[in-house]
Amino acid sequence: MEAAVSRPAPLFELQHTGATPVCWSYGMGAESTAGVVRTLLDPGFRPPELLEDLSNLIVMTAQTGDEWSSTADLVERHVLPLLRQYRVRMVEVARAGPAQRDGIVVLQDTRTPQRMHADPVEHGFFALSDEHRGNGVLPQLGGSRKCSSKAKGGPLDVWRAREVGSRPYVHAVGFSATEGNRIVGDAAVTLGGQRRAIYPIHAAGLSREDCRDYLHELFGVWWPKSCCRQCPFSGGKTGWPEQLARFQALPAEAAPHLADEYVTVALNKRSGLFGPGGTLREKLELGQATAVLALAEEAIAAADWALYRVRRCYSAPAAAWRAVEVVHRGDRLSATLLLAELADRLGRRPGLRHEGGHTRLWLAERHGDRYPQVEEFYVAAPAQVHDKAREGFDTRWRTCVGEDLLDLEDETAAALIDLTGTSAPTSAESSLFAATNTGPQ
Ligand code: SF4
Repeated sequence: MEAAVSRPAPLFELQHTGATPVCWSYGMGAESTAGVVRTLLDPGFRPPELLEDLSNLIVMTAQTGDEWSSTADLVERHVLPLLRQYRVRMVEVARAGPAQRDGIVVLQDTRTPQRMHADPVEHGFFALSDEHRGNGVLPQLGGSRKCSSKAKGGPLDVWRAREVGSRPYVHAVGFSATEGNRIVGDAAVTLGGQRRAIYPIHAAGLSREDCRDYLHELFGVWWPKSCCRQCPFSGGKTGWPEQLARFQALPAEAAPHLADEYVTVALNKRSGLFGPGGTLREKLELGQATAVLALAEEAIAAADWALYRVRRCYSAPAAAWRAVEVVHRGDRLSATLLLAELADRLGRRPGLRHEGGHTRLWLAERHGDRYPQVEEFYVAAPAQVHDKAREGFDTRWRTCVGEDLLDLEDETAAALIDLTGTSAPTSAESSLFAATNTGPQ
């Protein structure tokens, strides 16, 4: 997709100058803010490739769509005036859609930035939470921070490739003195010698606290961590007090993420935002963030609801293929009543259980440590998750389940038709959509 905001004429003609572009990845947090600001104010801090007039410097930000508005406010108040003063080129980008082929939106490309564009609705881009909401998942604590590569690294790479082409460039990244382990992975990305990564904050031996002190001395504010409101890495001992204060200060922008967690946990009881560290709701209750809890509850109650059928086929304790299907839509009362009536119709065999704020009707549960094994249940929750199953799911499912469960599924489907007057999918029918939907589980 082309830029939603038209791009100004080239701010420097890369093809006509011998200067090496120096791209500062500006995530808006304390470390990269200190790095960018010190690059402007302290010539001794600059890499040798940077021209004296800073004309080959590009400060680059990717918006995830879920950043706290207060972070963008600070950048507007303290950093943008400096970028304007030094006539530094600022580029702000975001994703245009969930797939790579959807491209990016260039939110601004200017040497006189006046504001940031963090709000995806106002500025027409695709937020990380939009994608996760439709899939019934949250950013994950484990693994390789896929959320960050998708929502930040991806759009920045697309823009840089388009602008810089195959020319060598210097890439400044704000890892702090304690993030040597992240540097090891990042430095390995050289793009065949085109990319020279530098880590000015780390090289200067500056910790996050040093960066905050530096910015406090300059601007008189304690610079916060830049992060998504639903970041799973924000729940640690050191980060949570700051994050909690933001949940308390900005309940309206935070509440949708709490509602998202409610739905995600409905579909997977083990999927609280902080993994083994518990759920966002629990932490906010402990922190007495009453306004955001109340707003989220209101939104959940007022939403359209669905009765979902959820199946997982496990090949190992933490490795599963998932299928989610909506079998009924209505309001909260009708969806929860239908679940109870369905349990009544099926008699005593399946279990209707109240677990962690949700009621699930279990058709099959995991047990023991032999794999593959399956789980299947029905649960009512706000209707925001799309029908989705990995390609080949039903073939795999049928190799993993016994006749008893298949019979119970048929019985459940018949009961649903009787109760709702509409057709509910059986395992065989669900393959209709399984062939066309793939994605995160
Ligand atoms: S701030 Fe957290 S949730 Fe957002 S992209 Fe980065 S790691 Fe993912």
